[in-house]
Amino acid sequence: MSSYSTSQVQTAPSLKGRAGGESGSVPERNLIVSALDHGTVIDHIPCDRLFEVINLLHLQEMTSKVTIGFNLKSSKMGTKSIIKIADRFFTDEELNQLSIVAPNVTLAVIRDYEVVEKKQVCLPDDLHALVRCNNPKCITNNEPMRTLFHVVDKQAGTIRCHYCNHEQEIQKVKLV
Ligand SMILES: [Zn+2]
Repeated sequence: MSSYSTSQVQTAPSLKGRAGGESGSVPERNLIVSALDHGTVIDHIPCDRLFEVINLLHLQEMTSKVTIGFNLKSSKMGTKSIIKIADRFFTDEELNQLSIVAPNVTLAVIRDYEVVEKKQVCLPDDLHALVRCNNPKCITNNEPMRTLFHVVDKQAGTIRCHYCNHEQEIQKVKLV
């Protein structure tokens, strides 16, 4: 994953301090990123997945400053959402959970107004207590227990329930 950092850090232009004053061709991006001095920016979140991202990262329990942009214009996606979390840096494990609901999000780690690292999320090998099995007869839907899924195909997003072996598409499962 660190292989992304070299090229992509350079694409984040002169982010020091100012919000709108840069002469770059992407003023919106500068504005969004440079408003944060330390922390994490999660960008390109599909708008209909914003609240699931908030839940997965437990942002509602956080005491640091969280700024959310909703229905922002995006050349890639039409509209997108973005979340900026001040003074909080996430582990890869925490971030990779986002691949369940928003596999194409981009993450930027900001220190002293500079993008020091860019990351993309990838599906973990196993999903512990993150999603529900969509087989109604599965024991996990009938007993109070944690779910466990094994990822069968990361590209296709196919996961298999550890308990009933039912394979399902990650786009169609519900979060726990
Ligand atoms: Zn199952």
